[in-house]
Amino acid sequence: MSYEKLPLEPLFQKIDELKPQFIERLERAVAIPSVSGDETLRPQVVKMGEFLITELTALGFTDIQRKELGTQPPPVADANLQLPPVILGRFGTSPEKKTVLVYGHYDVQPAAKEDGWATEPFTLVHDQAKDILYGRGSTDDKGPVLGWLNVIQAHNELGWELPVNLVVCFEGMEESGSLGLDELIEREAKEYFAKVDQVTISDNYWLGTSKPVLTYGLRGCNYYQIIVNGPGADLHSGVFGGTIAEPMTDLIKVMSTLVNSDGLIQIEGIKEMIAPLTDKENALYDEIDFSVDEFNAAAGSETCLHTTKQDLLKHRWRFPSLSLHGIEGAFSGTGAKTVIPAKVIGKFSIRTVPNIESAKLDQLVFQHVEAEFAKLKSPNTLKVELIHDGNYWVSNPFNDSFTAASKATQDVWGIVPDFTREGGSIPITLSFEQKLGVDVLLLPMGRGDDGAHSINEKLDVPNYINGCKTLGGYLHYYAKA
Ligand SMILES: [Zn+2]
Repeated sequence: MSYEKLPLEPLFQKIDELKPQFIERLERAVAIPSVSGDETLRPQVVKMGEFLITELTALGFTDIQRKELGTQPPPVADANLQLPPVILGRFGTSPEKKTVLVYGHYDVQPAAKEDGWATEPFTLVHDQAKDILYGRGSTDDKGPVLGWLNVIQAHNELGWELPVNLVVCFEGMEESGSLGLDELIEREAKEYFAKVDQVTISDNYWLGTSKPVLTYGLRGCNYYQIIVNGPGADLHSGVFGGTIAEPMTDLIKVMSTLVNSDGLIQIEGIKEMIAPLTDKENALYDEIDFSVDEFNAAAGSETCLHTTKQDLLKHRWRFPSLSLHGIEGAFSGTGAKTVIPAKVIGKFSIRTVPNIESAKLDQLVFQHVEAEFAKLKSPNTLKVELIHDGNYWVSNPFNDSFTAASKATQDVWGIVPDFTREGGSIPITLSFEQKLGVDVLLLPMGRGDDGAHSINEKLDVPNYINGCKTLGGYLHYYAKA
């Protein structure tokens, strides 16, 4: 892609120059163990929110608000446990400029040295030889959150005006289900977020370890259960085997009709709802830096259903999948128990993609399961229901914000980014898009091997520093779009 380059060299140089300060800022953030999933650490989560308020204030943000979200709903040990606040702030309010909202989260996953960390998880350790920063939250999501603050500092020190108005929305409950956030976005859509033109989220990762990506799609998930009821209590097969209709036999028959061993969903009508693959979208897959061999190595087997990277990625990102997860009430221990379970509940989910409509999907699933059960002419009873659902998200990778992010990436990394999707979900993406009615861009900073929720979480220094440049450059290109 050829494009007119903006004169951003001074900004990039300033960011390089400020590297020691940016690492030090991340060090102070990582030192606060803001684990949202641990009630006893809630004061630390709040402390992390206050840390951000102090930083935003020092950088010149205005209208900084600490939005309280009330008490945390059960199950909680402390019935009065307060949710951590959402921190809002503005940098610039010019009516002539576009307004970009950036979302990030300041809470982290739990971590303890005993889990197998090579270093103290809440001490940022700079491995100078590898130029990697280790610490909980380094990549998820304190590095990216501070990235936006670093961009402002660089502009301040250069005496540059920010080309857009920036609104920040930092949450402290993301790792624990984002409790209260949907309602906050709803409340602020026409208030604090009223003038927002675009939302950018930096909370996902490159597909691999060497090529930057921009993410334009996420799959949704509908989770179902099938309940088969038979005898009034668990029975012994030596006494009752061969004489009564067994719930597990019915359940397995029905579950076996949902998907075949090639991974193809067998429920009528779903295939027809999948958005057709356009030539333009199809061409994106050829460029993507991804290897089937590396994928097999990561899975620790040769059980991949697809032989080309294009097929594999399409089935991970843009086609639906159905997974059988388990059977509640079934015997699952070791040994040879001769029980006949009286009631079993089969669990499965479908990862959804455009244009699968959730309610229509439920209907097709229920019809299919009930029809297959009817064929068995069983005296047992069956009930099928949805446990929860979350919609897919897909954006236009050729719109203004993706184009701006692509140009900034090329300036910084010297390469056209891959346009990727993810097989999982980031529910907040869809909430912002629907409640604010604007486009969302996912602009990741870290690499695919950062270990966001695992031990030895890290952020490579080049990703942190070039990430800051990319975020800053993006704002400039987007302002001109
Ligand atoms: Zn995250």
